[in-house]
Amino acid sequence: MSQVVDHLAELTGFRDRDVMDVTLVMALRDLLEPESVAIYRSVGEPGDERWLTRAHLRAGDAVASADPLWAKPNALPKATDHPLRLEAMRSRSVTQVAQGGQWLYLFPIATDRDVIGVIEILSTRRLGTGAQRMVSSVLRIYHNFQGLLDYSERDTLTGLLNRKTFDESFLKVLSDIPTRADVTHEAEDRRHETAIQHYVLGVIDIDHFKTVNDRFGHLIGDEVLLLLSRLMRGSFRFHDMLYRFGGEEFVVLMRCDEEIHAGEAFERLRLNTERYAFPQVGRITVSIGFTEVRPGDGPADAFERADKAVYHAKGHGRNQVHNYAALVASGVIQESAQLSDVELF
Ligand code: GH3
Ligand code: MG
Ligand code: MG
Repeated sequence: MSQVVDHLAELTGFRDRDVMDVTLVMALRDLLEPESVAIYRSVGEPGDERWLTRAHLRAGDAVASADPLWAKPNALPKATDHPLRLEAMRSRSVTQVAQGGQWLYLFPIATDRDVIGVIEILSTRRLGTGAQRMVSSVLRIYHNFQGLLDYSERDTLTGLLNRKTFDESFLKVLSDIPTRADVTHEAEDRRHETAIQHYVLGVIDIDHFKTVNDRFGHLIGDEVLLLLSRLMRGSFRFHDMLYRFGGEEFVVLMRCDEEIHAGEAFERLRLNTERYAFPQVGRITVSIGFTEVRPGDGPADAFERADKAVYHAKGHGRNQVHNYAALVASGVIQESAQLSDVELF
């Protein structure tokens, strides 16, 4: 019993989801001594869901393995490759199967709204009712704690990440950007990996949103923000991080093979927004600016470059997507060390 309590104390001592998932599989391994234990999340577009390994630990492993946060969807196993996991998620109950002299247990992981994945435990011994109940109880505490994390990290209106969490995830991203030396090294090591990953930060600002509030009131204005956040979710990939930054200003942090793909994604959002019929309000447009995240950037540096591209869009007719680097290259705006001090218009 005290062992369980110790693990729970450890589990709820972290506020980083990656660490929490690793701690959860370690706790379950210590408590049940199975052959392996893993957390799989269902991710990806509807109809093309995939399994993302959040943490996987075998009996003899010293450390848990996991898919990188930015794993490419088409490199992950298809949801349909593992029908038992799907069944556990669908039935929302523990699934137990005998498999070649071993026992496989699948526990669904749910949030308040949705079932988001499974815990898979492979054991040579059969788990008794007591052990299964214990796993379910540990999972309930894990769910509740994840709910608390959501509450502090997410914006209550749109459910997108809030500004407070942006700096932290930006620094995480930055630590993942290869330096010049790494790139050379990597090119030698992994010639088959053709594309170098780029991180792109985009700023999205609704055009003439004050007019929406003035004409229709704040409640309708808020509904527009909520609907726009849904359009954003539909326009970007599951691993792109979406933030509500201020009132009607949104930020996207994305990873892509080439900057041009980022431009396409932002253009898709611009077009989806322009075409969407917002109830009562009708048509709304957005202005978008984006920039590649550079090694050595602080969160404010990348943001200010993207914001400068937004201001360019605002000054040139709105409802546009602009790439900061392209604006600088064409001489339309000038690269500056202190962007925030530059008066554009
Ligand atoms: P522009 O095209 O230049 O961006 O025009 P704008 O009117 O959108 O620009 P501005 O940034 O000056 O105004 C933003 C407005 O957004 C101000 C405020 O009325 C509204 N706003 C900010 N936060 C909220 C919110 O949480 N809910 C609602 N309904 N409106 C908000
Ligand atoms: Mg604004
Ligand atoms: Mg605006």
